[in-house]
Amino acid sequence: MTHATPTTREDEPGQKIWAHSGDSHLMEPDDLWTSRLPKRLADRAPRSERGEKYEIVYIDGTQIDRQLNDFMDAMRPPGAKDLDLRLQDLDKEGIRSQVAFPSMGFWICNIRDPELENAVARAWNDWALEEVMSRQDRVFAPAIVPLMDVENAVAEVERVAELGFQALYFPCGISDDRAWGLDLWEPLWTAAEELRLPLAFHIGTGGENVVYRGPGGAVVNYTETTYPAMRVVTHLVAGGALDRHPDLKLLVAEGGAGWVPAIGDRMDEAYRQHGMFVRPRLSRLPSEIIRQQVYASFQHDISAVQVIEDTNYDNVLWGDDYPHLEGTYGHTQETLRAVFTDVDTAIRDRVLHGSFEELFPATAATAATAS
Ligand code: MN
Repeated sequence: MTHATPTTREDEPGQKIWAHSGDSHLMEPDDLWTSRLPKRLADRAPRSERGEKYEIVYIDGTQIDRQLNDFMDAMRPPGAKDLDLRLQDLDKEGIRSQVAFPSMGFWICNIRDPELENAVARAWNDWALEEVMSRQDRVFAPAIVPLMDVENAVAEVERVAELGFQALYFPCGISDDRAWGLDLWEPLWTAAEELRLPLAFHIGTGGENVVYRGPGGAVVNYTETTYPAMRVVTHLVAGGALDRHPDLKLLVAEGGAGWVPAIGDRMDEAYRQHGMFVRPRLSRLPSEIIRQQVYASFQHDISAVQVIEDTNYDNVLWGDDYPHLEGTYGHTQETLRAVFTDVDTAIRDRVLHGSFEELFPATAATAATAS
């Protein structure tokens, strides 16, 4: 077992800036499901196959996604699939703790058979616990929640809480008949609130990621991945879920943070000026609910920090998005210096440590021990 040891928390000039990362990913082994599930289920679990040009993802025999091999190869730092090397990568980059989202596990929300979905999600959680979280205390995964059947969802949330998981993963995109603001999810929010498990939504999940093929498509599509995350916030706030569950916290990972207070203002305007149409009524203004319960992570955005200075919305986390191309692997220190030069140390500490430790209190103890 490798226990890398970050040395300082206070950064002296020229020294490494240490940070928690509110956004990173595990790369699952190819045999995750085939080694853990009976053949009749394993055969239908998500799997990827590398062709000449594309890596293609299949579920239940159907192609559901393809990515250029070159794109996939561009995001494989040494520790992408090796936990001991990953901890070395973290030390080198200056990352203390990471929330580690799935990679292949993101596709579980495309499964349409509740039995298969439940088995595949449980196997992923068991794998993350046994092969990642039990072996060290810096990288931890949010549990994947099966979503087709709310009873399954609650049962799995109770099981993973018992196992020591610190958060629950959810996809941003969801079909209209299952929208996040609907009452059907109420038992799940009740369980998550009681068990103190934050809801961790990651952008670019649960929907199509290429929605436009015209000029500027790469930038348009990348930016488009943030909009469903904004919808998660508007639905869970306006629908009353966060108001009914004031101890329930929500993280939007990788979508930037500058938009969060702005969307609160938009929602307040609607809540106030369209008041005669507004159902349900809330006990707090949308912007207040957002400021109290919604957290967001960014990688490079200068505005994510400026917005704290100007609006006092400070539930902001930084994220390295390891090992992805959008992330900061290889230039983390450069990025942290660029973003935080001349930024008040209280704000810097909040973004790099405080918000993260508030959302995942167990990591505060770990960070203190490591220092
Ligand atoms: Mn990410």
